[in-house]
Amino acid sequence: MTLEQIFATRAARLKASEIRELLKLLDQPDILSFAGGIPDPSLFPAEAFSKAFSEALTPSRQAQALQYSVSEGYLPLRRWLVNHMETIGVPCTVDNILITSGSQQALDYLGKLFLSPGDTALVGWPTYLGALAAFNAYEPVYDRLRIGTNRAPADYIAAAEAAGGRIKFAYLSADFSNPTGETVDHAGRERLLDQAETMDCAVIEDAAYQALRYDGAPVPPILALEIARKGTIEACRTIYCGSFSKTLSPGLRVGWVVAPQPVIRQLVLLKQAADLHSSSINQIAIHTVAERLFDSHVAELRSVYQRRRDAMLDALARHMPDGVTWTQPEGGMFVWLTLPEGQDGAALLARSLESVKVAFVPGRAFFADGSGANSLRLSFSCASEPTIEEGMKRLGVLLREGKLA
Ligand code: PMP
Repeated sequence: MTLEQIFATRAARLKASEIRELLKLLDQPDILSFAGGIPDPSLFPAEAFSKAFSEALTPSRQAQALQYSVSEGYLPLRRWLVNHMETIGVPCTVDNILITSGSQQALDYLGKLFLSPGDTALVGWPTYLGALAAFNAYEPVYDRLRIGTNRAPADYIAAAEAAGGRIKFAYLSADFSNPTGETVDHAGRERLLDQAETMDCAVIEDAAYQALRYDGAPVPPILALEIARKGTIEACRTIYCGSFSKTLSPGLRVGWVVAPQPVIRQLVLLKQAADLHSSSINQIAIHTVAERLFDSHVAELRSVYQRRRDAMLDALARHMPDGVTWTQPEGGMFVWLTLPEGQDGAALLARSLESVKVAFVPGRAFFADGSGANSLRLSFSCASEPTIEEGMKRLGVLLREGKLA
């Protein structure tokens, strides 16, 4: 017997992420990378954090900063979040909020809370790879979430029953999604809520990029629209996952969940069992920095990332050959490219790294059914405008060569 032979069945669903492998390429200086969907480290509010951490470690505060704390999360941070959620149209109380170690942990807990093996999770084709990774361990069946198309909720329900379970939730990042950069508009969000009512399932709203809007009118969070329908968060089926990773720092691993109290209470029990609570000192530092500069810092991020987004869209328009199409994101970090049918993003990456030294993420990894080979994700968050111009030019040359070959 080897230990591998006695792993639980769920271990078979865990596989190495193509993205993690690719992130290693960022270390090679000669590669122009548009692969990692990470914030630009030169924009971190490092000085503000340095000050916040030293304040948290002064003699009067260090016991709290270095000690165990409550599973629900640091109360002043939850209070700050109540206020923040109010400003984006979500009235709630501290009892509706759980602090998590990044929103990634929230996705894991929600999978654990809702999915029995064989239950159906509705996800976009494509969707956030990390959500698939988080849910996979709970052995779900995936079905394609199509918002407001003609596929009847009854068909979704029948498919879930045939697969041996029921539909538990629809998961989506509705604002500037990872990987496509697209946003579900107001009408689409209302239709999704109608569909969820008929299918009687939860909605997991992943709001990781919500604060990073560069143009266009803000669309209310799905949870805000549902509260407007039902009068109180306690009657809602939407679970909102927020994160400080794209606004303040991903390394501190602080995110949050907003949900009706019975859901939060259950998530608190999961958190107690998993890691007791998120880092005390990191929550304190995030709170201090958020209180001092969240709005001004986000405004600065928006202006820098907007210029990079513009540079990428402009360069794509000039350098891509006919037959290649791409999204027009109003925010976030990503542009999604679709190549002519029959072309393969992974093969293109291999050629690209070798001949033009440009990295991106092939699209297939983002599809629960393994389709989407002719797509790829480009991230503009970490590259300067001249690098974006050079990278898109090289990619254009490569794609033209590919067509001729
Ligand atoms: N959701 C989406 C859509 C993401 O892109 C990411 C990170 N790339 C996460 C959630 C997880 O982020 P974190 O755990 O850092 O909050």
